[in-house]
Amino acid sequence: MRTGVDMVTLGGCRQYDDYEHKIRENDSRGIWERVTTLIPSLKKAEVVYEDVGLRPHRTIIRVEKELIPICNGRKELKVVHHYGHCGYGVMTSPGTASTASKLAQELIVGDAVNHHYIGAKL
Ligand SMILES: Cc1cc2nc3c(=O)[nH]c(=O)nc-3n(C[C@H](O)[C@H](O)[C@H](O)COP(=O)(O)OP(=O)(O)OC[C@H]3O[C@@H](n4cnc5c(N)ncnc54)[C@H](O)[C@@H]3O)c2cc1C
Repeated sequence: MRTGVDMVTLGGCRQYDDYEHKIRENDSRGIWERVTTLIPSLKKAEVVYEDVGLRPHRTIIRVEKELIPICNGRKELKVVHHYGHCGYGVMTSPGTASTASKLAQELIVGDAVNHHYIGAKL
């Protein structure tokens, strides 16, 4: 449960390997029953909105750079992977984003260094 200014968010549930985006009545009912058992005064509350969100999970969050060959190997696509935070992305992303931006910088600066080198050679 998360408190807001005018509303509270009630939730949630955790089902592994489940990619369903539709709202399931059973899950909604379960959330409602658990939360109103904990805080009975919420029974009077109006449900204004329901939504479904996935929490894509990896055992280890992927934060790494990769050069993917494109155009039959003539060029390289620069990619920084940054995903797999599961249900902890709000808390952990400031740290992983800092690492991801350093990796992006390395890819960009690395490129600038290479161009400088080629320029000097010419
Ligand atoms: C129900 C639920 C509860 C959670 N509770 C918590 C919690 O209590 N604490 C916590 O730390 N974390 C929590 N999380 C996890 C947290 O919300 C996520 O880890 C975090 O939002 C991931 O951030 P992100 O920027 O990687 O992805 P997202 O927040 O998913 O952002 C991705 C963005 O990219 C956009 N997008 C996707 N595809 C495209 C495309 N092709 N073109 C353009 N845009 C695109 C999407 O619309 C979205 O805006 C919860 C998640 C869920 C679902």
